[in-house]
Amino acid sequence: MKPAFKPAFGPANEDVAAYYDDVEVVSPKNKKSMIAFMNKIIQGFPTISVAEGLVDFTERRRVLTSGTSARPGPYRFSVTPYTREITECLSEYSNITEVALMKPTQWAATNIMMNHQLYCVEYGIGPMLYVTSDDDLAGEYMEKRWDPMIVAAGMQDYITPPVQKKANKATGDTRRAKSFKGTFIRSIGARSESKLSSFPVRIIHLDEIDKYPVALAGGGDSSEKAIRRSDSYENLRKIFHTSTPKKKATSRIGPLFRQGDMRYYHVPCPMCGHMQRLLWAQMIWDKTEDGKLDLQMDDHGHVTNNPVWHECANKECKYKMRDHEKIYFMRERGHGGKAEWRPSKKPDRPGMRSYHGNGMEGFRSWINIVIQWDNVEGDPILLQDFVNDVLGEEYEDKIDKPDEHYLASRAETDWNRGDVNERIKTLTMGVDVQGDRLECALLGWRDWKESWPVEYFVFPGNPNDPNDDCWNLLDEVIRQDFVKPSKEVLKIQVCLIDAPFENASVMNFCERFPYYANGWRGVYPAFG
Ligand SMILES: [Zn+2]
Repeated sequence: MKPAFKPAFGPANEDVAAYYDDVEVVSPKNKKSMIAFMNKIIQGFPTISVAEGLVDFTERRRVLTSGTSARPGPYRFSVTPYTREITECLSEYSNITEVALMKPTQWAATNIMMNHQLYCVEYGIGPMLYVTSDDDLAGEYMEKRWDPMIVAAGMQDYITPPVQKKANKATGDTRRAKSFKGTFIRSIGARSESKLSSFPVRIIHLDEIDKYPVALAGGGDSSEKAIRRSDSYENLRKIFHTSTPKKKATSRIGPLFRQGDMRYYHVPCPMCGHMQRLLWAQMIWDKTEDGKLDLQMDDHGHVTNNPVWHECANKECKYKMRDHEKIYFMRERGHGGKAEWRPSKKPDRPGMRSYHGNGMEGFRSWINIVIQWDNVEGDPILLQDFVNDVLGEEYEDKIDKPDEHYLASRAETDWNRGDVNERIKTLTMGVDVQGDRLECALLGWRDWKESWPVEYFVFPGNPNDPNDDCWNLLDEVIRQDFVKPSKEVLKIQVCLIDAPFENASVMNFCERFPYYANGWRGVYPAFG
């Protein structure tokens, strides 16, 4: 049994996060009492009113360290002007409750979240949930980025030390949860189903969402599950979705971007003042005879020419906008420049904004980007990387008959556990009944000879008891829809459960499903 937890409200010194560490698996029983408990805490909170905006706070408090940033020192928005407006949406006084950011790699998106997290620690805003693609990354994030950020800001005293736990209890989880001012932040992986649905939260940061599993083991979607946790906060909540997009067919960030008001960063031409987006189509460079970037270097390998430019979209002007002018034309309106985010539609729901950033705006030099482009040379993998990581756009597969090289690379990079590959035609499941758990192997079949492992579920419980929750969890998976990238829905065609052990429970469970005399379909006990 979980030890009793005595909540202290207001400026509590209790380790709130530790309470949740004791709840490993959320059963319907303890889930109810936990939600009731959290709702009590929420009502106990004073109404928080914070006058300081997140931008001012960040420049006052955030310090980038040489170990985690290429530009150490106090945080300055002049380095990444395009992050200012997005950051401001997360201020307490802003009425924006949901932001979706689709962006290339190295665009400072994680820093936006970190700034917000530091702000929440300063003002005791929470509970806060940070979700990333997997559990290891969630731990690494807290250890390698979050802890150093707190230290660099000199805010260690804000964090409540973890309470002494039972000696035999693993303490790994306390690394991922930090208590401060009576509330907490927790960092989790997108597959941690029980943790995704275990407690109400006010601030949700969903990072790299295009790397989340297509569907959770027990059904449902990681982002959706996390967002439902914030329903009790309604207008007080802040949801921040961000990702570098992947394939268009399966992207989460792409559809979210289109649900928002679709903002693009517009910059003025230094010559004619025409406002425009930096577009890949407008990038032009001097080429050698074989069509590659004409890069001239001295004996020391230093580049001596300036071969890349962005042609002004004004046909009368065609000014060559250069990389080194970026620090001028990227400056935002009200901060020494004219650049600004412009919405291109009304958002689908109130309080939502969405932003699309691309690599021409970010830290990378344009020469560097063109060199990466030259290396693509028609290779579909490298092309997808370029479209996703540099342009920040979803990639559409246009290949009908992929060659073997392409398939092999795909198998390594694209085969995530839980994904239902397009080529799978049928799903089957085999269940092994153990004394304290059910172990279930979900297989996808291309034809009846070739099978692919899709997912492996373990449901702890007492299979001896036909009413035990492990049977309900199995029931849910059997009835679940599995969605292929093309949106085709598959269900488990046949499920065989080994019966010699716990025979009565198995027979009882199979009774829940219809019996098909002629079809290779249904849920059956298996003997032998
Ligand atoms: Zn111009």
